[in-house]
Amino acid sequence: MRSPILDYLDTIIAETEHVVSGESADYIPELAAADPDRVAVALCTVNGTVYASGDTGHRFSIQSMSKPFAYALAIEDRGLESVLHHIGVEPSGEAFNELSLDPETGQPRNPMINAGAIAAHSLIDDDRQSAVDRLLALFSQLADRPVEIDEAVAASELATGDRNLGLAYLLHSSGRLTREPRSAVEGYIRQCAASVDVRDLALMAATLANGGVQPNTGDRLFSRAGTRHLLSVMASCGMYDAAGDWLTAVGIPAKSGVAGGIIGVLPGQVGVAVFSPRLDPHGNSARGVAMMQRLSDDLGLHLMEAN
Ligand code: GLN
Repeated sequence: MRSPILDYLDTIIAETEHVVSGESADYIPELAAADPDRVAVALCTVNGTVYASGDTGHRFSIQSMSKPFAYALAIEDRGLESVLHHIGVEPSGEAFNELSLDPETGQPRNPMINAGAIAAHSLIDDDRQSAVDRLLALFSQLADRPVEIDEAVAASELATGDRNLGLAYLLHSSGRLTREPRSAVEGYIRQCAASVDVRDLALMAATLANGGVQPNTGDRLFSRAGTRHLLSVMASCGMYDAAGDWLTAVGIPAKSGVAGGIIGVLPGQVGVAVFSPRLDPHGNSARGVAMMQRLSDDLGLHLMEAN
């Protein structure tokens, strides 16, 4: 029998159809070419059951939704204290690609904006494997299938990556980058070009909801303490300069990506993922935010809800 949860997800898609504001990201040519009417939503419980509706098989680049996982891997590798030396945990109140570091510490303000994400990426290189290979292996473990890079997206962003290069040089000059700027940005851009669908993302989010253990395989991918730290940073910084609006209205730790995806994590309960390419002025999917708002309201997902 068809699950009523699937009917519910269909309803969310139908009832947010009117949200057509915003534009697909245009600073990465390959993303500008995406079909703006694609839409999908998925939900994964902490025991690994996935429910998905819409263009569920459509793959798109993970973009900034890769940042939480890269940051968590850096913490596993180096320990929290060392990572906190390189990257802060304060909301920036600025755009995701803002060319600025904390003037007092010289640190990127947090790992969810590009400056902090480039720094986090450069912390996960090791002697045997590049950061990109390690991250692809991690994404594959999280999604429980082989995840690959969309080379067209990576090439397109590399060709227009001046702003991220500027950020990397800024980081390097303040001693917060452990790699040569150009190779750090190349790696970071490839990390962002990993190709996923909403099911993959819901499973990835559910792993965080499950305290760092992938629900299908039972593999512990992140420590409990590292996961709690990461979710706190997602709650305060994951939606960039809309983080306050998001936390009050939707109320779950989340991360958006400029291809149109958003993941949300309700600790102990569920991981959710939505996709729709048109972005609001903060760079978050406009219809994706509307879908998340519906899920939060209807299912009582808001963290501050006394239920
Ligand atoms: N790769 C994108 C960039 O660096 C990621 C930004 C995003 O998804 N918000 O600009």
